[in-house]
Amino acid sequence: MKKLFIAGNWKSNKTIAETKAWASEFCPKVADLASEKERATVVVCAPFTSLSTLKEVVQNSVYPVALAGQNISKFGEGAYTGEISARMLHEVCGWVVIGHSERRKYYGETDEDLAKKTELAKKEGLNVIYCVPDDQTVVPKGADVVAYEPVWAIGTGKTDSPENANAVVASIKSKTGATVVLYGGSVNAENVASFMKQTSIDGVLPGGASMVADTFAKILRASIESTR
Ligand code: PEP
Repeated sequence: MKKLFIAGNWKSNKTIAETKAWASEFCPKVADLASEKERATVVVCAPFTSLSTLKEVVQNSVYPVALAGQNISKFGEGAYTGEISARMLHEVCGWVVIGHSERRKYYGETDEDLAKKTELAKKEGLNVIYCVPDDQTVVPKGADVVAYEPVWAIGTGKTDSPENANAVVASIKSKTGATVVLYGGSVNAENVASFMKQTSIDGVLPGGASMVADTFAKILRASIESTR
């Protein structure tokens, strides 16, 4: 059966109290799906301030929930005020998102910066979810999972068609050698199955829809049920 990868990106949202409430609602809601835990990996990409709290709550989850940071410094530790290094992040989680289009757009992150971040992440043992807006963008060596996220579909309620997303994902796989490639861009509980059913798409990266525990639980359920 098809292996699935579902990564929810909370972006810059949630206080610690909201983080606890989300996890306390999400974990019991997906406990009955635990027999599929080897097949469907769930990752929550949370703000740095939420990660320790989230880790504490999800450690008791029947359905395993892996955690990711949404960024790391392009430098190591040192005099880089405001930054979180790969080594610091790896203390609280196993994954990191690199190259999200919001980082490229608002923080001017270049392919070169992102390659450096990927190198540092791998050196410190982090798994990398690397985001690209198309099949032309460079994917650095070391990216464990690639996410195809067309910029116009992020947070807009507009999605790429499942067929076109599948074709772009297939192209990314053939150009980069990536084996796990996701689609992201306005994925929700209603449309997730149409992406999951595609032959080349291995999973999804929902942003807004992952912030609501009940919706994210429905996304996991629909992903599993539509690929049985
Ligand atoms: C994202 O955060 O990467 C994303 C695709 O967001 P949304 O699902 O809200 O479009």
